[in-house]
Amino acid sequence: MPVAEISAKSILRKQKRVDSWFISFCGMNLYRGCTHNCAYCDGRHEKYNVNGVFERDIEVKINAPELLKKELDPSRKSAPLGKGFVLLGGGVNDSYQPVEKKYEITRQALKILAEYGYPVHILTKSVLIKRDFDLIQKINKKTKALVSFSISSTDDNISKVFEPGASLPSERLETLSYFRRNGINGGIFYMPVIPFVTDTPKIMDKTLSDIKSAGAQYIVSSGMTLKSGKQKEHFFKILSNYNSSLIPSYNNVYKENIYGSATSGYYNSLNKTLLSLNKIHKIPLRIPLSLFSDILNENDRISVILDQLDYLLKLKGQSSLYGFASYSISQLKHPVSEIADLRQIKGVGPVTEKLIREIIITGTCNYYEKEMAIK
Ligand code: SF4
Repeated sequence: MPVAEISAKSILRKQKRVDSWFISFCGMNLYRGCTHNCAYCDGRHEKYNVNGVFERDIEVKINAPELLKKELDPSRKSAPLGKGFVLLGGGVNDSYQPVEKKYEITRQALKILAEYGYPVHILTKSVLIKRDFDLIQKINKKTKALVSFSISSTDDNISKVFEPGASLPSERLETLSYFRRNGINGGIFYMPVIPFVTDTPKIMDKTLSDIKSAGAQYIVSSGMTLKSGKQKEHFFKILSNYNSSLIPSYNNVYKENIYGSATSGYYNSLNKTLLSLNKIHKIPLRIPLSLFSDILNENDRISVILDQLDYLLKLKGQSSLYGFASYSISQLKHPVSEIADLRQIKGVGPVTEKLIREIIITGTCNYYEKEMAIK
């Protein structure tokens, strides 16, 4: 495996708002490229400009710990960082891919985040995360830690084809169980569900059942995207070897849209299956407020609650304007509770105003709690 040590110019990727999927306000890519080599990986797409062969030529940001220390230093004059989790994972690498065994860049980053008192959310497909249990526990005691594993199903044989370099799903779930038994919050990013491969009701039912047994506190689910170019070419190569008769079905649902999205008809039917199966398994479909409410400021808490509500309603096929209000609130400079007329905020009408006032007083709202509870 060719590894190139590179020096990055900066390391923290700040977001414009706290993300309601990961509850993060910033993240980092400590590596570029990923030997987990998932067939569907979006990081392969040309827009990310990853040099070389994505699954082979790994770049290690060798100065990442030094940069992180500098960027977190409270005496720096730059704008203060927001609240929420620092996300390790996602993007164009997995922070616990095999090269981490040698370089320990992720471990060093965790040490610094622990020292500076930042909450951390880690998303991975590797059991190597267990090596850092001591640091994750330390962060959890001081601020908060969240450990998430991503899976496309819990079928080890399918994973060997579509995620050949990652730990097996059974091992990921076993590791999640270990963290949960030892007092660390965590759950599953059930994504992507692979069309016509892992999206059958039978496989999804087994997946939800396994996730529940592992002690997951949430599932955050999403369908697959497939952008034209390197991502689609690579995926089709693997799919053809697995079962070439599926290609026409893919051409029917992926119509060359610039975001790589499948048709809304496909996603709607996937959502319906997920919702109906989850009536049996009853796992929250977003990271629950109880796992993050104390690390967000007032505006971010309101914004995330409204955005999660927006997602849950749309998942059921209902329309919602809460997403618009959520965005407006995330951009405010002053606490919402200091604004006398909440209707001045774009997207806030009488119903949303009522919800916001309830959140200001109680920290949550009944409507949200009801939607998060699985009936
Ligand atoms: S683990 Fe994540 S970054 Fe790595 S190949 Fe798989 S999807 Fe891509």
